[in-house]
Amino acid sequence: MKIVYFDNNATTKVALEVAEEIKPFFCELYGNPSSMHTFGGQIGSRIRNAREQVAALIGCEPSEIVFTSCGTESDNTAINGTLAALPNRRKIITSRVEHPAVLTVCRELENHGYNIIEVGVDSLGRLDMDQLEEQIDDDTALVTIMSANNETGTIFPVGQIAKWTAERGVIFHTDAVQTVGKIPINLSKSNIDLLSISGHKLHAPKGVGVLYVRKGTRLSPFMRGGHQEAGRRAGTENVPGIIGIGKACELAAANIHEENSRVKKLRDKLESAILKSCPDCRVNGDIENRLPNTSNISFEFIEGEAILLRLDKYGICASSGSACTSGSLEPSHVLRAMGVPFTAAHGSIRFSLSRYNTEEEIDYAIEKIPLVINRLRELSPFVAK
Ligand code: PLP
Repeated sequence: MKIVYFDNNATTKVALEVAEEIKPFFCELYGNPSSMHTFGGQIGSRIRNAREQVAALIGCEPSEIVFTSCGTESDNTAINGTLAALPNRRKIITSRVEHPAVLTVCRELENHGYNIIEVGVDSLGRLDMDQLEEQIDDDTALVTIMSANNETGTIFPVGQIAKWTAERGVIFHTDAVQTVGKIPINLSKSNIDLLSISGHKLHAPKGVGVLYVRKGTRLSPFMRGGHQEAGRRAGTENVPGIIGIGKACELAAANIHEENSRVKKLRDKLESAILKSCPDCRVNGDIENRLPNTSNISFEFIEGEAILLRLDKYGICASSGSACTSGSLEPSHVLRAMGVPFTAAHGSIRFSLSRYNTEEEIDYAIEKIPLVINRLRELSPFVAK
């Protein structure tokens, strides 16, 4: 059966160009970049090249790029590394809709005496900017706010937040795992201090990430050991991963405008067809200010898991906004923070596209999705018959 993959915010296909580029680094160029011999040493220049490719995509200096193992490590390093460097400050400002890679770390820090402020969002998922600005004070070690939400695609005004933090001498970190490669970013024109990237969200392999660290930012290493990454992140480099994320960034930079407008067109076609053909559904998130690839739709009166299972039978991969935990269906923390009604939050599905989706796939999904929704509604005890 053909797979129609609409789950690109979960992970992406490795680009063929990336797979080709990294192949020699498994069995031919497998030396350790820290070795004294030429065989290992030659890898160093390839890593430098990857660092330049990443830097070019986000508009920073190559020396400001630290390679990590994933977005989660980058987020953890940004938070814990900042707190370790600024031991006298006890407050962290974040949002209620962050990814668990940030939110879980912050909530754990609360148990260690830190004052955690979780800024709220409105019904469209937009950040309460007044609350955020008000909270920045002399005790604030870090403001950590994502660039765009992974569930709804809502984009946050991180440029404005970074301006405020810079004016007040506070470090600003943004989890840009869902934005890098999808919307242009130019860090040379922003006050962002720390920014997280994940390779597998932008057509590089799993197991590699990046933490951008603005020159001069105080940050203690999270991983300690060897002197890799100029002492900022110990551990023998994941060479194929690093080469892969470099190439993926180069590909993203080359076509970011055309690809994203093509992806947005496909997303909009899918979304408007669903809204037209399925009654009682709504889009979650800020429609005016969203990632071009993401559509989060709530289908009233039916369960997200049931929708996913039936879509799966047609080869359509998407994801649900609720997680089945210990027998009870918990709606996503993001939709709850937005105040999405219970009945709608339970039936929410995220479709997330990539440059590899085709018009033909969209037409196929437009044909199958109403069949799934209408059949489940027929079976639903909550729908009047
Ligand atoms: N941050 C956001 C916004 C994400 O969407 C994800 C993954 O879904 C992560 C962090 C974690 O990234 P990784 O899977 O590379 O650890």
